Amino acid sequence: MSWIKWYHYMIPDEEGAKREMVRDKLLQYSHCKKCTALSGCYFMWNNKPTYPQHIYCDCLLLPVSVSYDSLTAYCDIRKLTEYIFRYDNSRGKNYLFEDWGYNIGDAENLKEEVERQAKEKYLSGDYRLQFANEYGQRITITIVLQDREKHDIMIKTGWLVHPLGRITCATPFSGAVK
Ligand SMILES: [Zn+2]
Repeated sequence: MSWIKWYHYMIPDEEGAKREMVRDKLLQYSHCKKCTALSGCYFMWNNKPTYPQHIYCDCLLLPVSVSYDSLTAYCDIRKLTEYIFRYDNSRGKNYLFEDWGYNIGDAENLKEEVERQAKEKYLSGDYRLQFANEYGQRITITIVLQDREKHDIMIKTGWLVHPLGRITCATPFSGAVK
């Protein structure tokens, strides 16, 4: 499995004020924010964003060695407690999950399960590239859960790719996989 680290010069890998300041500065010299958002992010060689992104793209692809321990998948618990299991405005997602046998009391377990599977799938390159914008590259990962009868349910989850092998859950449920 070969991995690359997307690299745009001058962009610190560490997220935060400094990285954003440099990105804003470079934007003034017409270095697009889509490219600078990708800087530092890891992708499998055969499953990476379009390269180059555009004509006169300054990005480089550097080989990087990636292992289970170098990746992290994080899902904010509120994605479950306030998105999936939110009663007033969840567009029926709570009903779907409750049909399958899950309720808000399972939020912590679901979080751990989703994080565990997402990390394994990211590591094995089993993710689908979605759009990229100034905030970064989105990917979709299929997670397998079980319903009450122990039948597998496959759900699509949306993630944002961050520098240094980190992904965070943007959408814990964007549809079932048929
Ligand atoms: Zn570029």
